[in-house]
Amino acid sequence: MEIERMYEELGISRKVLEFGGQIEADLKSRFEEIDKNAEYNQMKVIKAMQENRVSDIHFAATTGYGYNDLGRDTLEAVYASVFHTESALVRPNLISGTHALSVALSGNLRPGDELLSPAGKPYDTLEEVIGIRESTGSLKEYGVVYRQVDLLGDGTFDYDSIAKAVNEKTRLVTIQRSKGYDTRPTFSVAQIGELIAFIKKIKPEVICMVDNCYGEFVERIEPSDVGADMIVGSLIKNPGGGLAPIGGYIAGKAECIERSSYRLSAPGLGKEVGASLGLNQSFYQGLFLSPTVVAGALKGAVFAANIYEKLGFPVVPDANQSRHDIIQAVTFGNPEGVIAFCQGIQAAAPVDSFVAPEPWDMPGYDAPVIMAAGAFVQGSSIELSADAPIKPPYAVYFQGGLTWYHAKLGILMSLQKLLEAGLVVL
Ligand SMILES: *Cc1c(COP(=O)(O)O)cnc(C)c1O
Repeated sequence: MEIERMYEELGISRKVLEFGGQIEADLKSRFEEIDKNAEYNQMKVIKAMQENRVSDIHFAATTGYGYNDLGRDTLEAVYASVFHTESALVRPNLISGTHALSVALSGNLRPGDELLSPAGKPYDTLEEVIGIRESTGSLKEYGVVYRQVDLLGDGTFDYDSIAKAVNEKTRLVTIQRSKGYDTRPTFSVAQIGELIAFIKKIKPEVICMVDNCYGEFVERIEPSDVGADMIVGSLIKNPGGGLAPIGGYIAGKAECIERSSYRLSAPGLGKEVGASLGLNQSFYQGLFLSPTVVAGALKGAVFAANIYEKLGFPVVPDANQSRHDIIQAVTFGNPEGVIAFCQGIQAAAPVDSFVAPEPWDMPGYDAPVIMAAGAFVQGSSIELSADAPIKPPYAVYFQGGLTWYHAKLGILMSLQKLLEAGLVVL
């Protein structure tokens, strides 16, 4: 009773709360499975921190060149332990996922090399990094050729065409784990492992890079456990645990990380420089919290899939599918549904709940984008957030939630807004 009144005071009607309650009651075993994975990954992170003898000295700030930044070097060793890689670059001056991917690509590709995407079109912002869309400073301007093999109709890899696409110039293969702004399925780590094994059999020396954004700690293994030479992600997504205020990581083979580091700083400088400016503590503590935070976000995604599927909207992944990232796509088929959903997510936020998001022309995207986020860290999408390009099929991509309870409120509020706009009937 008390809790119902609290939800009502926040703007959730009885009807919506009851509908959500019925859905939640059926999700017990799904949630248990998510909690078990989180427990496993929590142990993995603690083990990595103990093995690397993390101590409070590592939280001290460095400035200037950042020579001998013990906290930074140890954090990178911890990431390498967690992901079972030889080396890692974990930096506040990797300013986003796109930047980390751009550094990994341009650090490891040379003029005349070919870059292959065997899993269809990459994430929107990478189109300009690669030069799929004309852009100043793209890899294309530096003479790197791009080749793409689209997925088959059922969302699986087109192995025949991939075999034909790998040639003597193929230097690096980029595989995006998460669907991003697309309605294809997200790949499991096992599927990525099969693809990497297939490509390495044709050409063992090719570098396989995985865009791991939104995938960290969703499963018990990561792409680096199944043959990826580099995995790349953002610290304002899963591995920052909501506490990292900025940052990105590249983890993988020592030679790949070293080449990336010369691109990030300068040839000759590499990993040796880069002050951590007092951010180390939030990087360590965020990584420590990340498995639990990811579990909360996953529960939110599963909850949303079950709610909106029940109401007849196409959802990816569907209500029962296994999860390989924290993103949930819901297709509304019209801009009004997308906007009402995003306004509900915004209205449930701890920060900026009083503003109503509107679509705008965001740099790096080819259609107006609406973004809902009432976040402690700007643009952080491990915090409850939703975004959607305003173009067919009018799908909204929703992710995050630092706690399950907040994710639940956000989804209930999205439903409340759709109900009030007359776009659903309960
Ligand atoms: C978020 C994301 C990126 C990078 O995005 P940033 O906003 O630059 O951090 C790249 N690939 C995928 C699949 C993503 O989800």
